[in-house]
Amino acid sequence: MRIAMIGAGYVGLVSGACLADFGHDVVCIDNDPAKIEALEAGRMPIYEPGLESLVSDNVRQGRLSFRTDLREAVSGADAVFIAVGTPSRRGDGFADLSFVHEAAREIAGALTGYTVVVTKSTVPVGTGDEVERIIRETAPQADFAVVSNPEFLREGAAIGDFKRPDRIVVGTEDPRAEAVMREVYRPLYLNASPILVTGRRTAELTKYAANAFLAVKITFINEMADLCEAVGADVQQVARGIGLDGRIGTKFLHAGPGYGGSCFPKDTLALAKTAQDHGMPLRIVETVVAVNDQRKRAMARKVIRACGGSVRGKTIALLGLTFKPDTDDMREAPSLAIAAGLQDGGAKVRAYDPEGMEQARALLPSVSFAEDAYSCAEDADAIVIVTEWNAFRALDLKRLRGVMRTPILVDLRNIYDPVTAAQHGFAYQGVGRGGGD
Ligand code: NAD
Repeated sequence: MRIAMIGAGYVGLVSGACLADFGHDVVCIDNDPAKIEALEAGRMPIYEPGLESLVSDNVRQGRLSFRTDLREAVSGADAVFIAVGTPSRRGDGFADLSFVHEAAREIAGALTGYTVVVTKSTVPVGTGDEVERIIRETAPQADFAVVSNPEFLREGAAIGDFKRPDRIVVGTEDPRAEAVMREVYRPLYLNASPILVTGRRTAELTKYAANAFLAVKITFINEMADLCEAVGADVQQVARGIGLDGRIGTKFLHAGPGYGGSCFPKDTLALAKTAQDHGMPLRIVETVVAVNDQRKRAMARKVIRACGGSVRGKTIALLGLTFKPDTDDMREAPSLAIAAGLQDGGAKVRAYDPEGMEQARALLPSVSFAEDAYSCAEDADAIVIVTEWNAFRALDLKRLRGVMRTPILVDLRNIYDPVTAAQHGFAYQGVGRGGGD
């Protein structure tokens, strides 16, 4: 099949490369010339494990190419995917659909023959109707269908998630479009990945419902962690104790500094807005948004408390800046609010992240950056583990303790055993470890 992928970001580039790897003929289009230039030179504009070799293999075999102009790729395509960003709109928090609408207009001008236009971006209910209206208005004669096919991949594990998804959701009422989508994903039948064919609006809402549910789960265990600290209980044991119940499950029950990233914050907010607009407010989701927003800065206060109530003039070392490991994505990362909170308290903040420092530099202009975890900790008054990169899981605690001014370890991801940390002379603070702190 011939596929055009509009938007070569975290979702578009991974999806495009994986579809090419399935054997399809894929052109990834992005209107950012720097991104396309980098891709044509074999450089990845993002960090995602395994992506570089997947892209280069498929480029070499002639199944994957890159363009800034969509005209040629769209006019010959069986399916055109829209994978552009849908960030929060400034001011009201609703999803900013301007990139999706712009892409729809551009696509409309280039359609020839029957084409399935697939919205892969996360978009509010009814966006498919609007995309259809825009295309119909711009190209009244075009033969097309608009399908919703939300993406569930996780950054850091994106290729595996795309190639072995738990499910594929396809929202369409058009049998011709359904047949094209089944052909696009046919290679996945071998993995027995179920395809759920639903109405378009149902598919659009399913994506938001999934992200909101996961955000609720994270926020639930985070609040439980605070209660654990207050009553002298251990949240990790509580999480295991409830997670082993098959109805609950162990995943997404890791207490931490609050969720961040390019999806959960904006998607929970957009869902809450959609629900309000329809007179059906989702109280649980609204509360989750508010609780999580406050939590990130509260983590700075936790560090300040661990430092005896003040960080003025002290150096605080942050290990990990990205919103989660194995990505360079800094969007809505808790580290941003934590660094700001510490600086507001008068601290000097030094940071190290294995992949995120380039993106972080632009967002954290008054933070200094170190070459590795040990140089980050040099003469520091406290270390804060913000992101659980594997590289931070087995640090040489003796060496770390040796370079620090004051051995305070605030472990916002609970990756160290409090007893081991104490044996190495650290004053240790985890999250929700009231029993062991
Ligand atoms: P991104 O910002 O990394 O990528 C979007 C790309 O689209 C950018 O490179 C931008 O230059 C390009 N673009 C914008 N308008 C364009 C146009 N008219 N023509 C060509 N290119 C254009 O965003 P992302 O993280 O890949 O997210 C894309 C969508 O997928 C969002 O709706 C997001 O919510 C959703 N999603 C993201 C993830 C994730 O983990 N990042 C997971 C599932 C779903």
